[in-house]
Amino acid sequence: MGVGGIYSSPQRGGIAPYCVASAYMLCSPPTTDPDPLWEVIKHYRGLRRVRMFIWLACHGGNMTKSERVRRHLADDSSCDACSHVVENALHVLCDSQQARQL
Ligand SMILES: [Zn+2]
Repeated sequence: MGVGGIYSSPQRGGIAPYCVASAYMLCSPPTTDPDPLWEVIKHYRGLRRVRMFIWLACHGGNMTKSERVRRHLADDSSCDACSHVVENALHVLCDSQQARQL
């Protein structure tokens, strides 16, 4: 991250170095209440792809059949494995027979 100059920063009590991060901070609204779920997920120290999978599962981004129906990619949201009415992330990760066996 390069430093390109200085700017007035009320948060830092006057002058601070200018960089991309400082410009982003100036343009972004102040965040006082970060997502507590993200705070837990970002401290996960396993594989990045597992952390991404957890984040997607918590935000409904995994490509389940119900997500395919929502995106108009499929017509049927029932589970192929057990014929449950809706195959969503909760069903796949917790409620299905395969998940319960784990
Ligand atoms: Zn199922």
